[in-house]
Amino acid sequence: MEVEIISVGNELILGQIVNTNVAYLADQLRQIDLVAHYQTTVDDEPERIIAAVRTAQKRAQLVFVCGGLGPTDDDQTMPSVAKALGKELVLDEDHWATIQANFERRHVTMTPENIRQAYYLADGIALANPVGLALGTMVTTGKVTTVVLPGPPSEFKAMVKQSLLPELKKQFRVTNSIITRNLHFVGQPESLLMDEITSTLGNSPVVATSYVQPAEIQVRLKVSGMEATVAKQTLDQAEARIIAREKQYYFGTGDGLNLAGEVVRLLRAKGYRITAAESLTGGLFQSTLCSVSGASNVFNGGFVTYAAGAKEKLVGVPATTIQKYGVVSAETATAMAEGARQAMDADLGVSFTGVAGPDALEGHPAGTVFVAIAQKNYPTKAWQLKLTGLLGRQTIRNQSVAQVLLALYH
Ligand code: ATP
Ligand code: MG
Repeated sequence: MEVEIISVGNELILGQIVNTNVAYLADQLRQIDLVAHYQTTVDDEPERIIAAVRTAQKRAQLVFVCGGLGPTDDDQTMPSVAKALGKELVLDEDHWATIQANFERRHVTMTPENIRQAYYLADGIALANPVGLALGTMVTTGKVTTVVLPGPPSEFKAMVKQSLLPELKKQFRVTNSIITRNLHFVGQPESLLMDEITSTLGNSPVVATSYVQPAEIQVRLKVSGMEATVAKQTLDQAEARIIAREKQYYFGTGDGLNLAGEVVRLLRAKGYRITAAESLTGGLFQSTLCSVSGASNVFNGGFVTYAAGAKEKLVGVPATTIQKYGVVSAETATAMAEGARQAMDADLGVSFTGVAGPDALEGHPAGTVFVAIAQKNYPTKAWQLKLTGLLGRQTIRNQSVAQVLLALYH
């Protein structure tokens, strides 16, 4: 099935905003195995909206028109789509009552134009807007289904997720024959990881595709055209083989997983508290932990010890250690992790010290990073990360955090 997305808006055409809606929609569609090979952008001019919708009707069977459903004069999408499809607009009386009640409740005076947001295309269905006022709509004419969605990203996303996708699944039965699974990895370059996964899969019918998020790689396994239990077994086997080979880089299977979230969940399950002393990462590790809701169950606080003096003053690294081994050393990393752990009376203390670059430090090139994990009643582990200066300052910092999170996970 051919899919087209038409984005409508002057701001998009003029380069004043980035078209995040189309990226979001394309990504959501991909997950139910629909790909929009045509993506068009037009301004708020009715004649161009009409032309774009008519063109799309000729080459696609599923067409999305996004943006321009507001109550103001420049919002011409709904009447233009109606014209292009030869459809009337009908008033959703219930929704109109909801809009009026909404204005009353907020003590805001309504303009006569607000009624425009309660119209949808005749013979179609209205798509509820969980967070805004404009209705969306979905209508089928001949072989083509056309969907109209509002522009504000919060409304757009909510409507796609809550109203549109369930309807698409119902109408197109898209998920029946396709089963997917998302595996998550860290610490291995994407090309190398995918080479190994492809060779592990051999001639299996499973298809693997990868997506890189900062420092993490998501690999999506997919099988199609199989009976459900066979498909599941096939995926189970492929997943097990991949995990066995990539054990040291793997941290979970599922949607919406991230490494920090997994680490927090694990520490919480064990009842551990963690702290950190961070030099080159400047608090990035602690900030990453705090991006997970529920982090307060495992993290009370920690240290940013950027300069040598701060390492001594805040977490008690002996001046002699720094003199003897330098700040970029396993010994200093060990003293930082142990000092932080003791100062916070935590179960675990981690540390980061090294050269983010681009300049060298103490004769060490950028990418030389030492980290340590100190654990109560256990010997402290310190090691050097395998990073190169070519990665650049921010990637070195991101990778350092990711690799320590991975070590904590394992
Ligand atoms: P409104 O009632 O706000 O006018 P609308 O459905 O008419 O809603 P638009 O006028 O197209 O929506 O856009 C409203 C705002 O949403 C824009 O100012 C813009 O900031 C944002 N927006 C619209 N389209 C996109 C898009 N494709 N990507 C990102 N942001 C967008
Ligand atoms: Mg608008």
